Amino acid sequence: MYKPWSVEIWRLAGALLAGLIIGGLLGAVAWCLFAAVLVYLGWQAYQLRRVYEWIRSGKRSDPIIASGIWDGLVYELHRLHQRSRRRKKKIAKLIRRFHESSAAMPDATVILGQTLEIEWFNGAAIELLELRLPQDIGRRITNLLRHPSFLAYIERGDYREAVEFPAGPDHQRQLNARLVPYGNKQFLLSVRDVTRLYRLEKMRRDFVANVSHELRTPLTVISGYLESLSDDPELDAQWQHSLAVMRSQSDRMQRLLEDLLTLARLETHENEQAPRHALDIPHLLDQVLADTAWLTEERQQALCVDIDRGLWLKGASSELHSAFANLLSNAARYTPNGGRISVRWYADEKGAHFEVEDTGIGIAAQHIPRLTERFYRVESGRSRDSGGTGLGLAIVKHVLGRHEASLRIESTLGKGSRFICDFKPERVIVQDLAA
Ligand code: ADP
Repeated sequence: MYKPWSVEIWRLAGALLAGLIIGGLLGAVAWCLFAAVLVYLGWQAYQLRRVYEWIRSGKRSDPIIASGIWDGLVYELHRLHQRSRRRKKKIAKLIRRFHESSAAMPDATVILGQTLEIEWFNGAAIELLELRLPQDIGRRITNLLRHPSFLAYIERGDYREAVEFPAGPDHQRQLNARLVPYGNKQFLLSVRDVTRLYRLEKMRRDFVANVSHELRTPLTVISGYLESLSDDPELDAQWQHSLAVMRSQSDRMQRLLEDLLTLARLETHENEQAPRHALDIPHLLDQVLADTAWLTEERQQALCVDIDRGLWLKGASSELHSAFANLLSNAARYTPNGGRISVRWYADEKGAHFEVEDTGIGIAAQHIPRLTERFYRVESGRSRDSGGTGLGLAIVKHVLGRHEASLRIESTLGKGSRFICDFKPERVIVQDLAA
């Protein structure tokens, strides 16, 4: 194997030996050794200069022929150069492929820098977001996509979920956007056109709302006749019983229609926040408790109430009334006779909390994540028998969503459950009761 270092050592040794022999012959060993070292250094300087010129010329793919250690150095430099060229080629190919695949994607893809300035975007972004090349490169995305929902999403800084907002002239397009942080403080904005899905969803919502609305009037008429018929004292026992069953079923249908309409109304404004009216929640809770008192009284349940009277909230009164009443009626309906129900309304550093705790049948852990789905019931028989529509917790979830609040459910099977509504401090108003 070629070893440049040993060649170099041999060369130096050869120069010194030559100096020694010639010095011996001439009788001036020291001078000749000195001259040999000088010649050797001069030769090294010449090689160094050649290598330096070669590096400077930038023709590293075309190596020069040097000698000794310099040849080794040229060889290593050339190898490094070749390797970095290969790597560069590979990276360039990868980038080209990425650009080609992103350009072919039907979703708009925008690469954003640290301050959300546009670095690159694909063809779909030109069509979907109306971005212009090259004028919009370097501009902040928030200066170009200005819908309040998108701006609020960016402001929030929590990009785990996507955001939907209308776009285009007359807002005829519905977009779904998601920001994905990656690398060194860079972001990838992916935007999909979900107009078709949105229209389908709207059609479904409108259909349910319209059917519920249309069924309301005939059902009211039927209920009215059933009521007046059952008031007839001459009716025999058989008919009395049949009419009672019919009335209870028509009541159930009415409750179902009311819940469906409430849900449809909430879903229509799903992406909007609830209004921020100052609400006297303790007063609202007094009403809720009065409205549901018959349920707990009928079941001889002990009701324990602890309400912070100075704690108000910014929100929509009818929506919160409906949510709190649903939780309370659930607690009563899923707690056996003689059980205990506690209602609390209090605040801490995390915000305000409405809590309903019962000593009822409880819920197995696997059901808890699905309870807020429409018509999800742990035991449908029990739910129906107790007058449930299967929509109560779905309504609660929507109401809380519109109030930027969340629902926590803790439960132990056979022991009882606790439903907690957590409201953010921004929605809380603390009244000075002494004033
Ligand atoms: P429903 O009208 O059937 O009560 P909800 O949406 O209010 O519908 O509740 C969904 C399901 O969650 C109920 O069917 C019931 O199985 C369960 N659930 C709700 N609240 C309680 C509770 N306090 N204790 C036990 N189970 C409950």
